Amino acid sequence: MHIALLSRNRNLYSSRRLIEAAEARGHTVRVVDTLRCYMSIVSHDPSIHYRGEELEPFDSVIPRIGASVTFYGCAVLRQFEMIGTHVLNDSVSIARSRDKLRSLQLLSRKGLGLPITGFAHSPDDIPDLITMVRGAPLVIKLLEGTQGIGVVLAETNQAAESVIQAFMGMKANIMVQEYIKEAKGADIRCLVIGDKVVAAMKRQAADGEFRSNLHRGGSASIIRITPEERSTAIRAAKAMGLRVAGVDLLRSNHGPVIMEVNSSPGLRGIEAATGKDIAGLIIEHLEKNSMPRHRVPPKPKG
Ligand code: ADP
Repeated sequence: MHIALLSRNRNLYSSRRLIEAAEARGHTVRVVDTLRCYMSIVSHDPSIHYRGEELEPFDSVIPRIGASVTFYGCAVLRQFEMIGTHVLNDSVSIARSRDKLRSLQLLSRKGLGLPITGFAHSPDDIPDLITMVRGAPLVIKLLEGTQGIGVVLAETNQAAESVIQAFMGMKANIMVQEYIKEAKGADIRCLVIGDKVVAAMKRQAADGEFRSNLHRGGSASIIRITPEERSTAIRAAKAMGLRVAGVDLLRSNHGPVIMEVNSSPGLRGIEAATGKDIAGLIIEHLEKNSMPRHRVPPKPKG
């Protein structure tokens, strides 16, 4: 196969591993910097240009689109889809997963386990919003946050009200969520490929911290997940339409609850914690699922 890796940086661990795994299996990879693509959207003949030339045909595209370039990245990926190129995760699924509100709404429609969650922008009755999610302790989140930034634990209703007021002053979209205390600062990252969880790790928050993000000092270790957690992760990826996803779960008293479904899961933490060749499994998945490159049939003679 000839694969395009849509990535801003070929030196990131995940990019390097995917290139390595593809080449080890006899494939060729071209790293295409998402933001440098430019496109023509003509009827019947959409194309993508890069460094002054039209991009060659690819058998498959692996999108690694950072949160900060979601809008343009999804437009580039959509263009590949219009040309008829197979993509690992499609643009609609990635756009869905980047919108926390949209994701939770889709997951709740499928009846999947979620923390009790409220959304608001400018609530005129904050105490009612707090009561709606059953009162403190509460987690309040900025919708646009990543890597645990903008996630605050409010221990009392009064603290929750002040934080909500502060966020409201920023004119931000906010999420108010039941605090899953029994998770004890740990979450579970399930790596889903196709219809399987191929690896799972537990991330434990640093002492005195409830956010388990590795960027916030959390530590990762391998974990055995329950059949219910496994099926929740698979159904969550499917509800989003993602073929490769990192599904984050918390262990709550009412079963596994989904925190987030990530469409470009990082490979470093999970490969290190589990010792598994996740990049290799992603390429294997492509081998089984990408279609042979579209070829123009020869013109009939005469
Ligand atoms: P981000 O997308 O910025 O990483 P998350 O919503 O995933 O934000 O929250 C970051 C971390 O904070 C989670 O991985 C989890 O450890 C912790 N956390 C978030 N929400 C809750 C909650 N409702 N109850 C308990 N812990 C939570």
